[in-house]
Amino acid sequence: MMGHSHALSGVVGWMAVVPFLNGAEVLGVTFELGPGEIIAGALVCAGAALIPDLDHKSATITQTYGVFTQTLGALFNWIFGGHRNGTHSLLFALLMGGAAQALVWWSDLAAQVFVFLLVGIALNGLGYGMQKNRTAAEVINALATAGITLALYTAGTNYVWLGLAVAFGCLLHFIGDMATEMGVPLFWPVWKYRVGKNVGFKTDGPVERKVITPTLTISIVLLSVYLFPWKDLILGI
Ligand SMILES: [Zn+2]
Repeated sequence: MMGHSHALSGVVGWMAVVPFLNGAEVLGVTFELGPGEIIAGALVCAGAALIPDLDHKSATITQTYGVFTQTLGALFNWIFGGHRNGTHSLLFALLMGGAAQALVWWSDLAAQVFVFLLVGIALNGLGYGMQKNRTAAEVINALATAGITLALYTAGTNYVWLGLAVAFGCLLHFIGDMATEMGVPLFWPVWKYRVGKNVGFKTDGPVERKVITPTLTISIVLLSVYLFPWKDLILGI
């Protein structure tokens, strides 16, 4: 799938599991998700849903932070054996989730910086920019990223769930790619079989553009209506 659809699937995926996660305990993490955590989680998931394509030179995420993400991308490509290999495995989701969770445990500041980077990647992937006026798009993107991260920080957003959200975002990426014809080597490096190969739709083909993207977008609107306490927010109660 295209970066755009992956990012959208991250937002939808997080919003869809919020009602089930709220108040629940998963792997020792208790989820208490208010509006701040819903937005933060949606953007973290959207950003994380782009991480597996860091192994591809022209992917949205690889271009997001210039030399920094390009170098990281080249490194990932080398470690994980080329495009759509190790970065598209359950092992990779586990590694990324583990690394994010380690940051949370290690330092609050490190977790905030990581969230900031992911939000920037998410906004870039969601289509905030790239086309036409690159410079303006990048300035707006940077300001929006800073604004959102700062607002989340001021709201005292709790990131105990960061690792799980990152792993979940990676898994959503795999589901998206499994739905396309190329398939995903989920059990790499043990078993290199590509799950979902030759079934599904073409990347950036008519199905993705005319069915998947609009469906995901509408889902975000509907889930936003359902999840946020609009009445309280607007009336300020
Ligand atoms: Zn991919």
